[in-house]
Amino acid sequence: MTTQADTKEKINLKDLTKQELQDFSADMGLASYRSDQLFQWLYQKGVHSFDEMTNLSKDLRSQLKEVAQVPTIQHVRQQESKDGTIKFLFELQGDEGHKVESVLIPDFYPDGAANRLTVCVSSQVGCVFGCSFCATGKMGFFRSLTHGEIVDQVQYIDQLCEEKFGKGITNIVYMGMGEPLHNYKAIVNSASIIMDELSIGLSPKRITVSTVGLTKQIKQLADERQPFNLAISLHAANDEKRDEIMPINSSMNLEKLKEAVQYYYTKLHRPITYEYLLFDNFNDSPKDAQQLADIVQWVPSKVNIIMYNDVAGVALKGARENRLDTFMQELIKRDVTATVRRSRGDDIDAGCGQLAIKEGQPKGK
Ligand code: SF4
Repeated sequence: MTTQADTKEKINLKDLTKQELQDFSADMGLASYRSDQLFQWLYQKGVHSFDEMTNLSKDLRSQLKEVAQVPTIQHVRQQESKDGTIKFLFELQGDEGHKVESVLIPDFYPDGAANRLTVCVSSQVGCVFGCSFCATGKMGFFRSLTHGEIVDQVQYIDQLCEEKFGKGITNIVYMGMGEPLHNYKAIVNSASIIMDELSIGLSPKRITVSTVGLTKQIKQLADERQPFNLAISLHAANDEKRDEIMPINSSMNLEKLKEAVQYYYTKLHRPITYEYLLFDNFNDSPKDAQQLADIVQWVPSKVNIIMYNDVAGVALKGARENRLDTFMQELIKRDVTATVRRSRGDDIDAGCGQLAIKEGQPKGK
């Protein structure tokens, strides 16, 4: 049995980027194709141990075991919603048993075959940003995930999709627990692995990273020409209301967000998606729609209007249907490209803003 003392000094191969894995292999004196084989075992076949890497010799596997480890997050359980959404609970390895949730949102063709299989991944255990409507924000903050832990969530669900639906995942959204751009390096590294042909090989067009509006990191994405999509969790279209529900707005207000978004678009010419949770009698008036339409003019953009699922302890409630209709008409009148997204999996607390571990989490900071 492997003890913690055994594994402490060993290199965690899942903490390495592809380049670092190549350097590691070279340092071990291995032929260059070996690092690709390791990469595929880790991120395409999803093995949990060196013993499963059957195209490596026994000697090589023993050598690797001496110096390295390949920890994997553990699937604890899953719950399936009546609408087909599946919520997963994973336990992270190597610390006090922190847990995260991920969600699979399947769409089906009329004949019942799977169409889009979207995974919503978590990037942190808890969150520091404390948005008032968000269950994750109420947990406190524990730690950020490594890129390996993020890829593990995707890989587990991808394999399940292959078994259950006969095809792998088609889309990824970084919109689970945590603020993705507050864990910038792990997000970029995990997306790079997921896009790699020797891993899942997902097109960057099918990957979306969502942020509450961390302006420095939005500009960094642009400077680095990161190829995936960007979504902004807006949720209010003026500073007064945004201050009320999203504390980040007091330091990074809409003017600063506008500057970052325009910088991003100037460099990448890629449209932005704004996520807008619709709250009853808070941000669902015709005036709010008009202000939202003004924001959409900053750069070519579209809006996802998301029907909010109620969260225990949160005073804000989801908007009523008649208010939604009027709101949408106001947007359409102003030529805004807007889609209504019914939040999925609300019966299992898997909807937008609902992810939070209710038990077994060590205390947050
Ligand atoms: Fe954090 Fe996002 Fe929740 Fe805000 S909405 S508290 S940034 S997880």
